[in-house]
Order: sequence, then C-alpha cells, then structure tokens
Amino acid sequence: MNKKIIAIFLILIISITMAIPSSMAHAVDPVPEDDPEIIKLRQEIEDLNKEIAANEAKMAEIMNEKKEVKKSADALMDQIAVLQGQIDNYNFKIRKLNSQIAALNTQIMNTENEIKATEEKMEQQEKDIADTQEILGERVRAMYMSGNVSTIEVILEADSFESLLTRLELIARIAAHDNAIIEALKKQIAELASLKAKLEEDKIKLEESKASIEFSKTETQAAKAEVNKAKSVLDAKLFVLDSHVAKLNAEDAAYKRMIARAEAQREAYDQKIYFMIHGIASTGDGSVGNMIWPVPYESSYISSAWGQRDLNAGSGNFHYGMDISMPGANAYDKRIIACATGKVLLASNSCSHNYRGFCGCNGGYGRYVIIDQGQGVYVYYAHLATVYVSEGEIVSQGQNIGIMGCTGNSTGAHLHLEMRIGGIVPRSTYAVNPGLYVRK
Ligand SMILES: [Zn+2]
Ligand SMILES: [Zn+2]
Repeated sequence: MNKKIIAIFLILIISITMAIPSSMAHAVDPVPEDDPEIIKLRQEIEDLNKEIAANEAKMAEIMNEKKEVKKSADALMDQIAVLQGQIDNYNFKIRKLNSQIAALNTQIMNTENEIKATEEKMEQQEKDIADTQEILGERVRAMYMSGNVSTIEVILEADSFESLLTRLELIARIAAHDNAIIEALKKQIAELASLKAKLEEDKIKLEESKASIEFSKTETQAAKAEVNKAKSVLDAKLFVLDSHVAKLNAEDAAYKRMIARAEAQREAYDQKIYFMIHGIASTGDGSVGNMIWPVPYESSYISSAWGQRDLNAGSGNFHYGMDISMPGANAYDKRIIACATGKVLLASNSCSHNYRGFCGCNGGYGRYVIIDQGQGVYVYYAHLATVYVSEGEIVSQGQNIGIMGCTGNSTGAHLHLEMRIGGIVPRSTYAVNPGLYVRK
C-alpha cells in the first residue's frame, strides 16, 4: 500500500474517532420494553415475588407455632414457679431445723462436759477420803508403834493425869476432825452424784429433742424431694419446648435470609431493567446536559411533583422540587446516583432528625448534596440517609452519591430533587422544575 494512502486512511480514522462524543464512551443502546430479555427479567421478578410471598407465609406459620409453644411454655413456667416456691419454703424450714440441731448439739456437748467435770470432782473427793483414811490409819499405827494401841492403853499408860488429859483430848480431836472431813466429803460426793444424775437426765432430754427435730428434717427433706421430682418432670417438658422454639427461630432466620437474598436479587433485576430501558451504563458517562434519573430502580416513581401542593395554602406551600420514592418500605436503602457529572459544591452528612426537627440543615434538607453541573446548573439531592461524596469532589454521571433516606423535614423516605439554574439564592428566582430535565 502506498504511504500517502496509509496517511489519509489514518487521518480519516483519527477524525472519525474524535468526532465520537465522549458521552458515548459508557453509554449503551436503549432496549425496548418488549425486548425478550426485559420480559424475562420481569418474569424473574414475578417469580421472586412469589418466592418471597411463599417464604413470608412460612414465616407467618412459624410465628403462629411459636406463639402456641410459648403459651404452653408460659403455663409450664407458672407451674414450675409454684413448685420452686414450695422448694424454697422447704429449704427455709430445713435451714431453721439445722440451726436448732446445731444449738442442741452445743447444749449436749456442754452437758457432757459438765458430767465429765462432776465425775472428776467425785473422783477427787473419793481420793481425798482415801487419803484422809490413810492419814488416820497412819496416826493410829504410829500410836500403836509407840505403845498407844488403844484409848484404854493411852489412859492406862499416862504418866500423869495432866498428860492423860492431853492425850485423850488429842485422840478425840484427831478422830473428830478426820471423821468430820470424811463425812463432809461423803456428803459432797452424794451431792455430786445427784447432780450427775440430773445432768444425765438433761442430756437424755436434749437427745430426745434432737431426735425429734432430725425426724422433722428427714420428713421435710422427703417432701422436698417429692416436689423436686415433680419439678424436674416439668423442667424436662420446658426444655423440650425451649428446644422447639430454638428450632423455630433457626427456621425463621433461614427464611429471613432467603427473603433478603430474593429481595436483593429482585432489586438487581429492577435496576438492570432500568438501565436497559434507558440505555444507561452503570457508570457515569461524564456528560453535563443529558441528565439521568437519580433513583435507578424500575419501580421508583414521582411521589410529589413540582408546584403548589395545597391550592388553599399560601406561598409557603409551594414545592420547589420533585420528590422521588419507592413503593412501600423499599425506599430506605436505595442508591441515589448523580444525574450528571459535576463538582460537589456542598455535602452535608450531619443531620440526625426528621420531620419537625431542626439542626440548621438549610431549612430541612437533612443530609444533602449540591452538585454544580457547570453552566450555572445546581442540583440538590436532599433527605439522604447517608452521603457518600465530599465537597470539591468531581462525581461522574451515574455515580452513587448517597442512600435514600428521611433526614431533615421529611415524613417518609424519598429523594427531594431540586434544581437551580443561573444562580442559587433566592430560591424563588432560580429554582426550576426538575421534571422538565429529568425523566425516568
Ligand atoms: Zn437537620
Ligand atoms: Zn420535595
């Protein structure tokens, strides 16, 4: 091939390439509503709806079953509580009997000690008598050894009348004294013996009391064992019911997971349909003029359009934006995407209240983002649950900038989309109907 032809060919290719607008880089061809793939996706969503409904019905059944089981469990627990009350009473009684037994044991021990002390005293007295008698015997023996064998001998052998008197008196005194000691000791022994007898009687009485209390304790323990047996039967029944509830909870959690999976799948199909029908790629194409719908789900809808909301109310009732929501409770976790490429002028992620609250969130926008799309076009995305971008950041068309929510002056989750062209304040001058620029 000729060099000149190649050069012309290259220039031609380059100029054709440059002629393709950059906005085409990520765009895809729109698909008609009756496209077989769209129909197939809608059928998938229908199937998922059926699956979710079936699983929800099963969860309702589980809920009813749980209610029944819980009713039985509550009745059982009431019965168990009654038995436990009886067991507590028995335990209280047993503790009381135990302390009585302990007190009696102390008394018995004290009595035994007293008996022992009395016995020791008696032994001592008997020993004293023996000693006294021994001393007396020794004296008599001494008298005998020295020749004074008897009183008669003492008298006969006296040297003088004086010495006789002395000797007689001495003998009388010794005998009287020793006899008195022995008598006193014998009397004390008798007293100690009767004391010991009384103590032994006391001990027997104490032991009888103890035996009777121990009998009560045995009876109480037997009664308690009966109640315990009855209670353990109920406990076992309750355990079965609790296991049943645990099984139902596990089933419930499994159905919940299945439903969450189906819902996520349904959402993905819904989004796919939206992108196909509107010819939008899932990433932004960088264009400024061609704004896209910011709630990328097929079931999203305009919940409140631009304009006077209540014709009888004053100008304060004018809606300077367009509200976009999702059916039912589906609005809370939906992605919000940028309608067009631009620079984040403001990103406020701090508001934590909703309807009637106040935190200075610019008159109730809640968590919101303003994107400067260039050429004096500003787009507000308000009431977000979360803001994903920050000020000064360049966002691409279709980029996820936050999550739909209900922050600020909002009564339900929705996106408040507001547009200003040519300036920002006052709003009444610059706000335009976003519905003129953004269509689903
Ligand atoms: Zn606020
Ligand atoms: Zn609004």
